Amino acid sequence: MHAQVLLAYLPVARLEHMVSDSSKRRASQNLFHACMRRVLRPLEAAGAGGVEMKSGDGLVRRCHPILAVYAGDHPEQCLVTCIKTTECPKGAPSGSLGENVPCHARDIDDILEALEVYDPLEKPREYAAWCNGIGIKPVLNPFWKFLPYANIYQSITPDVLHQLHQGMTKHLISWLQSTFGTLELDHRSRCLPLNHNVRHFSKGISGFSRISGKEHAEICKILLGLIIGLPLPDNHSSDKLLRAVRGMLDFLYLAQLPSHTDETLNNMSTALDAFHANKSIFVELKIRDDFNFPKLHSLLHYTSSIRLFGTTDNYNTEHSERLHIDLAKDAYSATNRKDELPQMVAWLERKEAIAHFDDLIRWRLGGRLPPPKNTPPSNRHTRIQIARYPTASMTFDNICRDYGASNFRAALSNFLVHYVNPQELPSESQDAVPRFNPGFTPLPVFQKVKIRIKDPQGRPEADDTLDVVHARRQSKARSGRKLSARFDTVLVNTSPDSGPDERGSIQGEPRTLGEPRTLGEPRTLGEPRTL
Ligand SMILES: [Zn+2]
Repeated sequence: MHAQVLLAYLPVARLEHMVSDSSKRRASQNLFHACMRRVLRPLEAAGAGGVEMKSGDGLVRRCHPILAVYAGDHPEQCLVTCIKTTECPKGAPSGSLGENVPCHARDIDDILEALEVYDPLEKPREYAAWCNGIGIKPVLNPFWKFLPYANIYQSITPDVLHQLHQGMTKHLISWLQSTFGTLELDHRSRCLPLNHNVRHFSKGISGFSRISGKEHAEICKILLGLIIGLPLPDNHSSDKLLRAVRGMLDFLYLAQLPSHTDETLNNMSTALDAFHANKSIFVELKIRDDFNFPKLHSLLHYTSSIRLFGTTDNYNTEHSERLHIDLAKDAYSATNRKDELPQMVAWLERKEAIAHFDDLIRWRLGGRLPPPKNTPPSNRHTRIQIARYPTASMTFDNICRDYGASNFRAALSNFLVHYVNPQELPSESQDAVPRFNPGFTPLPVFQKVKIRIKDPQGRPEADDTLDVVHARRQSKARSGRKLSARFDTVLVNTSPDSGPDERGSIQGEPRTLGEPRTLGEPRTLGEPRTL
């Protein structure tokens, strides 16, 4: 959607003329900060003095654009903030990263003041010693030193891709594999029944050579189910382990919510507290010696960053990693590999010009787009779809035989009695069921129901959640291959005032579709949570 614009390619210089590794590292850090200063120089005057900007409603306002957020992975965050990779980019020293204590960002004013004490060019030795004293690397001129109102230690944001999906989730899965053994977890993941929204790991979860963030997310959906009921070695109780895993998974999902309230942010803190309160089980099991690593520590900063800068999808590096393909790899492959930079820039400028012109043509042809409707979320979240024509027409006996639905006749009779006489009391209709004759046969059989659930918050850009329920007998495909039977379990909450209670649990009486009455109340399917 062209929400992000590429401003510059930064050089990756090998600096082969330098002998010592430490001088190479220092020089490449200085080079990075010098380049960033050059790229962001327009913000120095604009941030301090302001510039006129036109917003979407056509009004011109005086704005002060500043560096607000710096999204990057941990090595990039350390490079930008000039701190060691074993520390928190915001402030916590190395050695304390496994503790569940608040981490306060460094005071940017103190750092800026300290950087002015010695001139790095005139007194480089004194400058380096002074920087070491205040806990940052002696970078010649950190680029943020010149930016008005910038606080780089506050601007460092959470990164769901590297800290959660490729970070804590990856650790958690490997700790559980060490606890229970890969064989057991693989076996359990193969045994799980098929489900439309859950990937089925037919070869287990341990056979991957390289796992992507998306695959980690798929494993997380089944992770708690894989370990429930498994005994721990040396007679350890599994309570702490389950609480720790659940805490981390709750945090993972809450951290990715598309909108937040004070309540959801409090829930995030509670989930993280639960992990920290129970994480010692991994030490007791001798899987870890400590938890002193930056990715775990970074989770402490999520709620405050969400309050400052909005939900985590605003600064997830998943987007910039994706843009690296579009704007760097694709651009490079469009060149003849000789003196490629000017060719890449020309390619990029042409692509942007085409995109702008495309927007203009659309706008002129389609006229002004209607303003987005701000409709309140409706109660009709759910749509149920079945095929236009049934898969087969069958008698009661065949349905009973092929689908194993031995109570089907009684259930249908019961449903029809209630459908015809909804006022009738259950005791009276129960008496009528054995005498009831449906009076028609064969019956149309549908083997699949699709349930589409609209976004509960009514966001127009959000996709519907699709769920599919199968009731398929064993059959043969045209190729002669045997298709095995598949019967999904559906829980329907028939309580009219059903909904989560204050603890988030689901209230109401669960009934399976196999029981009488439940088919007769499709209105309860309208509550997405109760499904
Ligand atoms: Zn920190």
